[in-house]
Amino acid sequence: MSAVTSGAGPAVLDRGSLILPYTRQDDHFIDGAWRPSTGTVRNVVVDPATEEAWGEVPNATAEDVDRAVAAARRALPGWAALAPSERAALMLRAADELERRAQPLAWTNTRENGSPLAETSGAAANAAGILRYFASLAGHLETPDVRPFPNGAGETVVSWDPVGVCALIAPWNFPINLVVIKLAPALLAGCTVVVKPASPTPLSIRLVVDAVAAAGLPAGVVNLVTGSGSVGDALVRHPQVDKVAFTGSTPVGRRIAAACGELLRPVTLELGGKSAGIVLPDADLDELSRVLIRSCLRNTGQTCYISTRLLAPAERYDEVVDAVTATVAAAPLGDPLDERTVFGPVATRSQYDSVLEYLAAGHAEGARATTGGAAADLGRGYYVRPTVFADVTPGMRIAREEIFGPVLSVLRYEGVDQAVELANDTTFGLGGIVFSADDERAYQVARRVSTGSIGLNFFASNHSAPFGGRGDSGLGVEYGLEGLHAYLSPQSVHRRARR
Ligand code: NDP
Repeated sequence: MSAVTSGAGPAVLDRGSLILPYTRQDDHFIDGAWRPSTGTVRNVVVDPATEEAWGEVPNATAEDVDRAVAAARRALPGWAALAPSERAALMLRAADELERRAQPLAWTNTRENGSPLAETSGAAANAAGILRYFASLAGHLETPDVRPFPNGAGETVVSWDPVGVCALIAPWNFPINLVVIKLAPALLAGCTVVVKPASPTPLSIRLVVDAVAAAGLPAGVVNLVTGSGSVGDALVRHPQVDKVAFTGSTPVGRRIAAACGELLRPVTLELGGKSAGIVLPDADLDELSRVLIRSCLRNTGQTCYISTRLLAPAERYDEVVDAVTATVAAAPLGDPLDERTVFGPVATRSQYDSVLEYLAAGHAEGARATTGGAAADLGRGYYVRPTVFADVTPGMRIAREEIFGPVLSVLRYEGVDQAVELANDTTFGLGGIVFSADDERAYQVARRVSTGSIGLNFFASNHSAPFGGRGDSGLGVEYGLEGLHAYLSPQSVHRRARR
């Protein structure tokens, strides 16, 4: 492969034989088989690096949605009746099948949303890890949970039933991971599912479903319908759906929450963020630079939990700005199919327009771009130059709204109390980081930030720890035992103490 540029300016990769043929799909996965859509409307898949359409999938009709939900409903009793360890065994096979498809998954994902191969080449292994983690919790469901009455009058046996048929609605930024993070706990719990991927990324989810089918799950346990937001809406409101799990934007999350509130339907929402990275005065800036892109601009800035507001102490402000500017400016921007690329295009035309609008707002409101600050001209593709804005003040749009593009805002603070105040001056509460040479000091500051997850000198997801947001960042959690319980409904059987 030809080089992408490092630093100064981007170059275009000669894709040559890398271009895959146009792929046209006409079916949804329903009741254990690929079945033709009953409709004629197709959604086109566009490669954001070239702006070319390279695939299409059917937009599900109401009838397709009904069929998928009915299949999930029929499969529910049989799947729920299996021992959790039997379900776990099939999940482990699905994990192996996913890993077997690592390369096509990575390439498809990259061509759908422009995530660099360096990112997507780990997607299958990560998804397999999620399935294996939840499979490892089977014992938790098989051990009876007996709780004595506090007054000694008897005891209660607490059992966990699957919540039922689940609608899993996923976004495009990490399409594989964000489907499997829902699918794995749902399957272990004994739920059956209908998956609705985001419009830009249906083809990678077809591969995920192929992997699950190859693992031998019974027909109807996992179903897939593709299509636009209205297909998601039909699933959310479908009378035979028992639970909704959604990752995506806060406005759509609110609409889903409203519908589920009306229906008294359990819902898990993982929404947007505007997390803060607090750089304490003793922070090691070399270490900050090493983790900066993964922690603050991962996936071309299209990651919900990244710390896109960097809070720097006044006395080291210029030093921090210089360090992050140098790191961002040196990271290769280019074709996401090149393994050295760090920043690819943003995922869609509308995302591109939206990010450019934020850049214009940043300039207009008086922020100073120390690198980037404009679109990148590679001849084609939705490329934005990775941008660091300095002199950002808390009221600016770029300090308040989720941009979901390669844009980092650096704010100044005076004293740690103001740093915490600024970190909490947001309607969101999803991620965050505290950078410090002293872990205990960083931990004490982290505990003062109102957020669902926060890291000390780095950020990463831990499959065994709950991940979820506060405020506008969502409701409920994924991952961990708590994430499994989102797919379970408890039943308490009380019995008298034996004499
Ligand atoms: P959306 O919230 O619109 O989409 C997420 C998923 O929901 C997609 O599958 C979408 O389908 C579906 N959907 C859309 N409308 C409805 C509805 N009324 N009922 C049920 N499902 C629906 O995100 P966008 O793709 O439009 O991204 C916009 C912004 O959202 C980004 O700029 C970013 O700020 C934020 N975002 C946050 C993510 C996160 O990880 N928290 C992930 C992605 C986006 P379809 O794709 O067909 O419209």
